[in-house]
Amino acid sequence: MLIVMEHGATEEQIAVVVEAVKVLGLTPQPIPGENRVAIGVLGNQGYVDEEPFRDLPGIQDLIHVTKPYKLVSRDFHPGDSVVCVGGVEIGWGREPVVIAGPCAVESREQILAAARVVRAAGAKILRGGAFKPRTGPHTFQGLGYEGLEYLVEAGRAVGLPIVTEVMRIDQLDPVAALADCLQIGARNMQNFDLLKEVGRIGKPVLLKRGISATLEEFLAAAEYILLEGNAQVILCERGIRTFERALRNTLDLGVVPYLRQVTHLPVIVDPSHALGRRDLVIPMSKAAIVVGAAGIMVEVHPDPARALCDGPQSLDPAGFAHLMRDLRATPSIGSPVA
Ligand code: PEP
Ligand code: MN
Repeated sequence: MLIVMEHGATEEQIAVVVEAVKVLGLTPQPIPGENRVAIGVLGNQGYVDEEPFRDLPGIQDLIHVTKPYKLVSRDFHPGDSVVCVGGVEIGWGREPVVIAGPCAVESREQILAAARVVRAAGAKILRGGAFKPRTGPHTFQGLGYEGLEYLVEAGRAVGLPIVTEVMRIDQLDPVAALADCLQIGARNMQNFDLLKEVGRIGKPVLLKRGISATLEEFLAAAEYILLEGNAQVILCERGIRTFERALRNTLDLGVVPYLRQVTHLPVIVDPSHALGRRDLVIPMSKAAIVVGAAGIMVEVHPDPARALCDGPQSLDPAGFAHLMRDLRATPSIGSPVA
């Protein structure tokens, strides 16, 4: 429930409401607004009884929140959140951030070469998968901890923070000790135990939308992380599965302006997995920035023809340099939400 206080509600009236929420065994979260204060009520498992609030002075409205998320919503947090990944700030209305690197870390040389390429062209964060969630078990499964070491070395060599995927709870602590941001992939978006555990880790999380997840499910997944105390969550639209088969997935770009209204968390777009084709990555990266994305994540490989994973959608060094040039000339909505 959201308790909206009257315009001129006094500190004392607010304190009385906060106390009334606590008496019910629930958690009050005051949300200061420009004109009035609201008090979010957290911790209820069902409908919150209005009776204890009915006669309290200073209350304008009681709004029952029926959605499965609260902490991620703008109702409970009107300002834009900024997530800081190794010194790089990602948030609505900020300069868009480019995350780039190969799908998978394949060797020390490969990730070092990729790191140099993306750094030289202007990427701000290096990506690379050490643990890979592959659809088939006969394909390259990632180098695991060895790959993580190479990724860390490459990030340090070029001075870029790193993001990498975690698939299991036992990977969280060792990966969090070395990486600047933990990626939860599309296939694990609803691995609720993993989400809860990553919520207890004080590292930024890049949460990718599941291939058939509704936006409500996507936001509810993020809510799991925030509820455990970690508010450093970046949402990533990476395409969803629809009836359309011409492309790998369907890039649902409308979610960018939509989510901007609904959540304070930054949203980035991954056109590589959405399209599955490198020739479409450049135009759709630009489109993502134009509609206000806080950044993009693209796959870049020093030699895509030899990539062990996702080669067809990976940009080569020249393609990435081209993309970065184009992005510099791309206007972003960039202004804060009204
Ligand atoms: C990836 O980023 O390499 C990846 C596996 O992404 P997704 O979870 O979106 O498929
Ligand atoms: Mn990939």
